[in-house]
Amino acid sequence: MNPLVNFCALCGGQKVFGYTTTTVDLGSSLIVIRQVPAQICELCGEEWLDHQTAQRIECLVQEAQAQQRQVEIVALTSQRSSRLQANL
Ligand SMILES: [Zn+2]
Repeated sequence: MNPLVNFCALCGGQKVFGYTTTTVDLGSSLIVIRQVPAQICELCGEEWLDHQTAQRIECLVQEAQAQQRQVEIVALTSQRSSRLQANL
């Protein structure tokens, strides 16, 4: 992928770097991941995560699932992830 050619595959709009919040609802648990670095389309608002970010989210989801947490709020920063847990 060429980072210089950075256009939305859906609408052809230009993507800009930003941060977003992703929510994963697993039924038994809800995981909120904040400060997710993403390329966000200026036109349609579609959020594009890079492979590494997607993997980190996958990891967090599996971890929360394994520990059967009901609610998990995680801030995914570029340096490290800080964690706030809420057990209801
Ligand atoms: Zn778009």
